[in-house]
Amino acid sequence: MRISVVGAGYVGLVAGVCLAEMGNSVMVVDSDERKIELLNSGRSPHFEPGLDELRVRNQMNRHLSFSGSLPEAVGYGEVVFVAVGTPTSADGEVDLRDLEDSVSAIAGAMDGYRLIVVKSTVPPGTNSRLEKFIRSRTRHPFDLASNPEFLKEGTAIQDFMHPDRVIVGARTDRARNIMRHVYNPFFRTGYRLMETDPESAEMIKYAANVMLAARISLMNEISQICLAVGADVEKVRVGVGLDRRIGPSFLFAGLGYGGSCFPKDVMAMAHVADKAGVADGICRAIGAVNDRQRETFLSFMEKEFGGDWAGRVFALLGLAYKPRTDDVRESPALFLAKTMLDRGATVRGFDPEANQNAQRALPGLLAMDTLEDAIKGADAIFLCTEWNEFRSLEWTGIKAAMRRPLVFDGRNIYDPEEMAERGFVYYSIGRRPAGGNV
Ligand code: NAD
Repeated sequence: MRISVVGAGYVGLVAGVCLAEMGNSVMVVDSDERKIELLNSGRSPHFEPGLDELRVRNQMNRHLSFSGSLPEAVGYGEVVFVAVGTPTSADGEVDLRDLEDSVSAIAGAMDGYRLIVVKSTVPPGTNSRLEKFIRSRTRHPFDLASNPEFLKEGTAIQDFMHPDRVIVGARTDRARNIMRHVYNPFFRTGYRLMETDPESAEMIKYAANVMLAARISLMNEISQICLAVGADVEKVRVGVGLDRRIGPSFLFAGLGYGGSCFPKDVMAMAHVADKAGVADGICRAIGAVNDRQRETFLSFMEKEFGGDWAGRVFALLGLAYKPRTDDVRESPALFLAKTMLDRGATVRGFDPEANQNAQRALPGLLAMDTLEDAIKGADAIFLCTEWNEFRSLEWTGIKAAMRRPLVFDGRNIYDPEEMAERGFVYYSIGRRPAGGNV
């Protein structure tokens, strides 16, 4: 099948590469010329484990091509996936301009039937509105399908190639048949394609993200209570997760969630709820708890350093919003770094993949090439992203290189007693501080 994908971002590029890997002929189009130049010169615009290998193979065998021309892509594919960004404003209203621009351009370039598939995360009702919008711009037949994406950055290839489920919201048999044809090859061990109406498909995506974010925020709130009452959130997490009704995933307390999805989708859901007259619910509270969680270390820092951090050197380990991605959108590490910079500190960061993006997002930050460069002469280390390579560090050398043996663990990956025995003062999330006189 010939397929086009609009948007070569974290979702569109992975979708395009994986659809090509299944034997389709795929053209990915993006309005960002820099991305298309990079891709056509054999490089990826972002890091995602396993992406390069599949991309190169499919570029070489000509199953996959890239273009900066949307009309060319619309002329190419019978099916046109749209995976452009859908950010939110401060109150949660979703900005659909990129989606409307691309759909409008698709309508203008159509020369016959097309199935247009909305992969972007959009509020319920968007597909129905887009249908009318397209109808007013083309005389050619078309169908629209809502097909929200559930991949996770860091395991995006695996998630796309072996999905838990694929949701298709469509109103016609023709659209449903084409979508079955597209996704059948991805189900080798069991068929998990759910067909529904577009509104429910759109809602499933928001509901899933809000539920996952709620688990994180609830656990983070519990972590604050644990600290106040002398409980250990790690023991609570394990004990709670053993309940089969609850299960162990998404229960880690930490510096809060970030990324391009949870923060905006939670706020978007709150906005949808407001407009639907379902007011004063828990969606805004999920976001508020997350905002507060990012400030967890500030009071401890004030205790250690007072309020003026001029002359202090802080080392941040991990800048991406989570491991195995270079994505720094809404990263708790950058929130912390900005607060430190505002208070006069020197902030050095090291991330295995996200240095460049972090430096671009926060120019005052010094992104260092190595962990050793970041920690040399530091007053404190802040573990912000739990990359595997930070789990077993050589603490004797690190202590010798620092100005003060002080560690703030924002992901609870170290053991408080062991850190105290190594001679560090150690703060973490929802657990008593350890070491020194704390
Ligand atoms: P992104 O910002 O990484 O990529 C969007 C791309 O679309 C950009 O490269 C941009 O240049 C391009 N674009 C914008 N307007 C265009 C136009 N008119 N024509 C051609 N290209 C255009 O975004 P993303 O993270 O891939 O997310 C895309 C959508 O998928 C969002 O709605 C997001 O909520 C959703 N989503 C994201 C993830 C994730 O993990 N990133 C997971 C599931 C769903």
